[in-house]
Amino acid sequence: MTRSERRALAARILRVNRSIRHWSTGREINWSKPPKANTIVRFLHQGRTYKCSFRAACHMARLNSLVRAKWGVEIHIMQGPYNTGVAASAGTHDYDATWDISIPGVDWYEAQRFLRANGFGCWVRLPPAFGWHIHGFTLPPREGQSISDDFQVFGFKVGKYVDGGWSLFGRVVGSSQISDYYDERSGLSGHAKDGTWFPDDKAATVFDHQAFIARRVKNAERAKQVLEAA
Ligand SMILES: [Zn+2]
Repeated sequence: MTRSERRALAARILRVNRSIRHWSTGREINWSKPPKANTIVRFLHQGRTYKCSFRAACHMARLNSLVRAKWGVEIHIMQGPYNTGVAASAGTHDYDATWDISIPGVDWYEAQRFLRANGFGCWVRLPPAFGWHIHGFTLPPREGQSISDDFQVFGFKVGKYVDGGWSLFGRVVGSSQISDYYDERSGLSGHAKDGTWFPDDKAATVFDHQAFIARRVKNAERAKQVLEAA
């Protein structure tokens, strides 16, 4: 391999590693010394920068890799976390973990099933109440008695109706989309039963952040070897 071929190969290997950056400086993550799961970072995707926790960024990067491997397309992000001002979202995107996405060319309910199977608590949203999209969030690790306090237990701050207000107010002050998700309900006012597919064991689908970080460390080592090869 020529030097430029080695550089191109290393860049491909480091693609996912480089899509997550420190929030303030924009510098790459040292995957051997990663930030805490709830540290705010930048997630770079399709020329845009999103603000979210390190864990939420890693999960979205993982979902995108899985989607690329399965369908050869990238996840299209319509709205990220830490985004205020979309009235129809009712504050659910004001803080961490919550995304509106689509998978181009893939049936909405097939996409929903795939995302649910991979730790994204989500629903297809459709007209007339919404424009077509999939609204959802990175499921936090399952802990303790209450499902709604799981974000707060692990130090993540999410919009009021995502966890009923636990992470913002330390108690339940409204309805909770995460408890609706585990209960296979709509995540909307009315909380109707959702008859579409859900994983039987939802906790088993929760994103494995440590495994993701371990793969990034390996990729960084591989890229280094490629660049250093004579
Ligand atoms: Zn949304």
